[in-house]
Amino acid sequence: MAETTIEKAKAVLNAAQQVIILSHERPDGDAIGSLLALTLSLERAGKNVTPVLLEGVPSRFRFLPGADKVTSKIPSNGDLLILVDAADLQRTGFPVETLPRQPDINIDHHPTNTDYADINIVNHKASATTEILFDVIPQFGLEIDTYVATNLMTGLITDTIGFRTDSVTPRTLEIASELISLGAPMAEIYARVLNQRNFVSVQYWGKGLNRLEKENGILWTSLTIEDRKAVGYPGSDDADLVNLLATIEGIQVVMIFIEQIGGKVKVSWRSRPGVDVAAIAFSFGGGGHEQAAGATIEGDMQEVQERVLTATRGIISPSPEESA
Ligand code: 5GP
Ligand code: MN
Repeated sequence: MAETTIEKAKAVLNAAQQVIILSHERPDGDAIGSLLALTLSLERAGKNVTPVLLEGVPSRFRFLPGADKVTSKIPSNGDLLILVDAADLQRTGFPVETLPRQPDINIDHHPTNTDYADINIVNHKASATTEILFDVIPQFGLEIDTYVATNLMTGLITDTIGFRTDSVTPRTLEIASELISLGAPMAEIYARVLNQRNFVSVQYWGKGLNRLEKENGILWTSLTIEDRKAVGYPGSDDADLVNLLATIEGIQVVMIFIEQIGGKVKVSWRSRPGVDVAAIAFSFGGGGHEQAAGATIEGDMQEVQERVLTATRGIISPSPEESA
């Protein structure tokens, strides 16, 4: 990252008193970890910070330091608006015209980031947005204490699915090591955010598992509003089912279609290295990484499935044993 970009960000942060920080809808551990790490480090420096998430903090992340500070309402004014882990302006889930000001700072690691802020701190090579924050928080003159370290570690663990993705570099592991030294409880975070499942989530998975379909290296399923009602699942996401499906061998692309209120379907793609699903998600108005991407598409379940399946078939080469 160019020195001047960091210096500029540091200067606007120093000058600001009321800071608003946003991340993306259906937040994952990197969205929440980034949001809370930056919030707590700025608060320690005497800033008044409001961290905002459209749907608040999902229960599994509520143990994180600072989680109780998150609100789902954007303050009507602030000196500074920062977005973390959000590839584009639509990602917060709030209508863009309701944002209190143009974003001042954008800190992210998605290759599909649109550089929408005045100051864009974007590194596609970072395994998580918290990996970028580990470097820039001290460069901003802010401190990484145990609470900040815990949030940073959460982003690393969730975005790399426990240090298992291609995006993990020696630097990722060095940072994890330093975060442990700073007091981040790695085993506890790992257990809470990756290993532990609640009963209702697994019942919800059951609905999707019953509808699994497979064709020429593509595997997909759907989850409906009715499924969530039936089991009492409180979120509007897939309870991470897509990552379970991605462990099935011999598959090139996994997709999950999650019905949303208002006639929309959230689609998540996961792929084997060499199959770029970010480009296809981008073509549907979404984005993400080569091996993990998503989009929210208008239309009913059947129509969206047909469109997305047709487009996805076009990017894979059927393997002989799969098409047999
Ligand atoms: P997931 O499918 O688990 O929601 O997300 C996979 C990756 O794609 C994440 O990096 C996430 O930020 C990104 N992603 C998911 N949905 C969208 C979307 O609607 N727009 C953009 N730009 N990125 C998305
Ligand atoms: Mn991320």
